Amino acid sequence: MNGVKAIRRFTVRTVLPESIAPLGKLAGNLRWSWHLPTSRLFEEIDPAAWAASGHDPVSFLGSVTRDKLQQLAADDSLVQRIRDLDADLEEYLTGDRWYQGLGDDAPRSIAYFSPEYGISAVLPQYSGGLGILAGDHLKSASDLGVPLIGVGLLYQAGYFKQSLSRDAWQQETYPVLDPDGLPLTLLREADGSAAKVVLPLPNGRRLAAHIWRADVGRVPLLLLDSNVAENDDAARNVTDRLYGGGGDQRLQQELLLGMGGVKALRIFERLTGTPAPEVFHTNEGHAGFLGIERIRELMDPANESPMTWEEALTAGRASTVFTTHTPVPAGIDRFERSQIEHFFHAGLAPCVPTDRVLALGSENYVGGDPDKFNMAVMGLRLAQRANGVAKLHGQVSRSMFSGLWPGFDTQEVPITSVTNGVHVPTWVDPQIADFARSTFGAESILDPEWTRVYDVPDTDIWALRRRLRSNLVDDVRKRLRSSWTKRGAGGADVAWTDSVLDPDVLTIGFARRVPTYKRLTLMLREPARLKALLLHPEHPIQLVIAGKSHPADEQGKRMIQDLVRFTDDPEVRHRIVFLPNYDIAMARTLFPGCDVWLNNPLRPLEACGTSGMKSALNGGLNLSILDGWWDEMYDGDNGWAIPTADDGATAEERDDLEAAALYDLLETQVGPRFYAKVPAEGAGAAGPSEPSQDGVPHQWIAMIKHTMATLGPAVSAERMLQDYVEKLYRPAARAGRDVAADHFALARRTAAWRSRVHGNWPAVQVEHVDSSGVSDEPQIGDELTISAYVALGGLDPEDVTVEVAYGRALDNDELSGISVNQLEAGDDLGSGRHLFTGAIRIDHSGSFGYTVRVLPQNSTLVSKAEMGLVVNA
Ligand SMILES: *Cc1c(COP(=O)(O)O)cnc(C)c1O
Repeated sequence: MNGVKAIRRFTVRTVLPESIAPLGKLAGNLRWSWHLPTSRLFEEIDPAAWAASGHDPVSFLGSVTRDKLQQLAADDSLVQRIRDLDADLEEYLTGDRWYQGLGDDAPRSIAYFSPEYGISAVLPQYSGGLGILAGDHLKSASDLGVPLIGVGLLYQAGYFKQSLSRDAWQQETYPVLDPDGLPLTLLREADGSAAKVVLPLPNGRRLAAHIWRADVGRVPLLLLDSNVAENDDAARNVTDRLYGGGGDQRLQQELLLGMGGVKALRIFERLTGTPAPEVFHTNEGHAGFLGIERIRELMDPANESPMTWEEALTAGRASTVFTTHTPVPAGIDRFERSQIEHFFHAGLAPCVPTDRVLALGSENYVGGDPDKFNMAVMGLRLAQRANGVAKLHGQVSRSMFSGLWPGFDTQEVPITSVTNGVHVPTWVDPQIADFARSTFGAESILDPEWTRVYDVPDTDIWALRRRLRSNLVDDVRKRLRSSWTKRGAGGADVAWTDSVLDPDVLTIGFARRVPTYKRLTLMLREPARLKALLLHPEHPIQLVIAGKSHPADEQGKRMIQDLVRFTDDPEVRHRIVFLPNYDIAMARTLFPGCDVWLNNPLRPLEACGTSGMKSALNGGLNLSILDGWWDEMYDGDNGWAIPTADDGATAEERDDLEAAALYDLLETQVGPRFYAKVPAEGAGAAGPSEPSQDGVPHQWIAMIKHTMATLGPAVSAERMLQDYVEKLYRPAARAGRDVAADHFALARRTAAWRSRVHGNWPAVQVEHVDSSGVSDEPQIGDELTISAYVALGGLDPEDVTVEVAYGRALDNDELSGISVNQLEAGDDLGSGRHLFTGAIRIDHSGSFGYTVRVLPQNSTLVSKAEMGLVVNA
């Protein structure tokens, strides 16, 4: 009924006949989204209804009629399959997996906080890479048995849906989601009432939220929802959409995520008996307030022996992990200091001094803005362990945040890296998974059998690739027709979309969000050259492009418009398409169907990038700037590197040079090899410009096999999870347990020690350094004895490390190729002065230099730079 609006809406859940009741459980746990036998079951029950539901089991089951359900319930073989799958799920949920073999020191529970989660198309709670990564993190944790609990927000509208206007301008709509129609259950108290968290807001207002639970395999995901009756309108709208903007909405989202998230976890522990998390991991700075809530818990005057700020900070930091995702300062979340003050004065953490909170986010370093509160800076100060998301990004982060550790070398900045990965069962095409199982017996990319892909006949791989490409072509035609119809084209005007793209043409994909640095339109730099590539008589390419621009980013929208206008040209429109509304559902057809995945960000602004990884899993070859993950994983045989012109060129020159390099690669390497114009090494038969005898490009396929066998395991999120467990979660849990033992005895001692060090540090000084043992003409191999006279104020020699650093002295006296030796504490010279001695050996000819420095030293410190204190001679 047009125009008639329901005053109330609710979703009626299906009551399933008993024999098929486990279908409800299979639909309710999101594991179906990466477990093929389960999703195939839904499909086979009613293919048309499954398609109509958008592959959403909850809505699918809701759409099956009662008659049909009775019919299914009487089908013995179906009932048996449902029982088997139910038993399989039960085994998956409760059996031992990789993590259960790790032993007792592995954390009993880990909380993972993220503002967005991209788990499945049926739960659209993500905007891009960060969310998809978080989804893949949870899924892999589940597969490995890592006891993770996810925490996030439930947005009423998630992220926007993208469509295009007639003149190619991005349009945004925000379809409202009904949580009752999603695979979620409301967390309830024993009396049946909804469990809730409440945060006080300024002016006596309150922000209450309910807690929804999604089950991602073994991993529960708690999503906070402020759309509850007891909130005023503004509070209800706090979680209305992802990354809300205006006024204080964004800040309130982050307070709810961080502080409310910890409260939600406590409720969850109480209601389910789940062990309290021993590690807290914050995926990017948005959830950083979780650290404040944990400090608040420890300082609570209602505790038997409430802790001081320093003690609580020490305890909380030990078990907190912070992952930074952006290599650009502009990408970091910042608030006005006054905003933070305003909210904390409302009583968010009454026993925590607000000036301490403000100090955590303060940009009190060279180049910082004293009026801002920086979420990444707070994240780093609240976490004893931090990481970037690729090796190069680790390096970039160490230099970007080096201001927090003045006096240290960039390499010493305590930020490590764990390279991102992608969840293989989600991103590997079912046809490839089936193929691997049937031809070389590999159940998973991580099986040793997986490398037997090398033994598969080239013709089989080629046929498989063509099937995947054909699938994509079909999908593109449907999507393009629908997009053109929405843009206002009528019947005959859209007929051409039925023949767009060609299943035998080299297909290149480019899809991602559209911030400027990703350079969506680099390929348009010389339109004539792009056109020539698309229409090449012997080795044409075709391009499939997708991506959403942030709604407030006019420049991004203009890039999309420029691109779409190019694709609208009747001369090329059968070879280049832009597909609106890039999302997980599109991605799962797009990655497998593309022969080449293109990525051309401005190096080093891509923190990691994961789409190329998804392509690699499916035998796609990457053609990319050496940025993010590709910088460490490109090996010369698994794709192509677009050279970077980052040595002093202007932005314009850089785009010119890098675009030209891209065209060259496509013209001379990629195109000819795909069409078998380049002979296979040692194949001999085919000449340099002849197609191979059997029409199969053997050298291309050699690259596919190499990519699948070697990159596949390296880019998997299982590898990423294992890295997190070994490098960060386990050490953090150990540190957390140590500081918490005996009523936080070590936290209290360490905090007292830290205060003493801070108090005395201004008095620490290297007063004088002597060396002896070298003749007037020093030679390689000579040993130098170093004596340093160090004033320690009120500190003891055990409180510090005194080091001699030596190496080649450059013209400006800076040292390079540094080695470090620790000096031994010797005589107490009285009045706080101590002698430290040691030796160094001259290990090279030419200029040689050394210096001495003093650092705090304590068994609880993870790195020398941790406290940001150093005194250089
Ligand atoms: C993988 C993926 C992304 C992230 O891609 P990047 O290469 O990391 O930018 C974004 N959106 C969707 C739908 C994806 O599948």
